[in-house]
Amino acid sequence: MPEQPTSEFWKDIRPIENSVKPDAQPEVYLSQAATDDDRYYAPFSETVGSRPLWINVKDNTWSDILRAKEAGLVNRHYHPHEVFAYTISGKWGYLERPWTASAGDFVYEAPGEGHTLVAYESEEPMKALFIVKGPLIWLDEHGKTVGYFDVHDYIELCRKHYAEVGLGADYVDSLFR
Ligand code: FE
Repeated sequence: MPEQPTSEFWKDIRPIENSVKPDAQPEVYLSQAATDDDRYYAPFSETVGSRPLWINVKDNTWSDILRAKEAGLVNRHYHPHEVFAYTISGKWGYLERPWTASAGDFVYEAPGEGHTLVAYESEEPMKALFIVKGPLIWLDEHGKTVGYFDVHDYIELCRKHYAEVGLGADYVDSLFR
């Protein structure tokens, strides 16, 4: 139930009846998506955590808050599909790209890019909203493929972490659409 309006000009507009089709899935609403509650961040690397917001198994796609409380690293990988990012706080970038992203900065990575994600030491934690179309292809220092990480690995990582911190492995299921 939304908050009741007071004097807003639209206060007398009626909501659409039956606004959701019978076979449509419900929306995902998460308050404080970029929370500081450590429990929500699964260890994506040793120094970078990921809070899943939305997971789409069919399209091998997910959205998350990526967070590094101090300097952070997600080691080199290649994306065969696109990636979107919006920076909430802190500073981050890719070793291979010329920019440094800070609060308010948007990034679109076209398919076919390899990169090494780094988070800088900063007064605020690095937090960014990502939409990732999987998989990530892990690369060695010569650019050779050494593994992959797709939505199924992501689900496994999150389930294991949420079970360990007491939120419950099935919390992840609430994010599937
Ligand atoms: Fe990436």
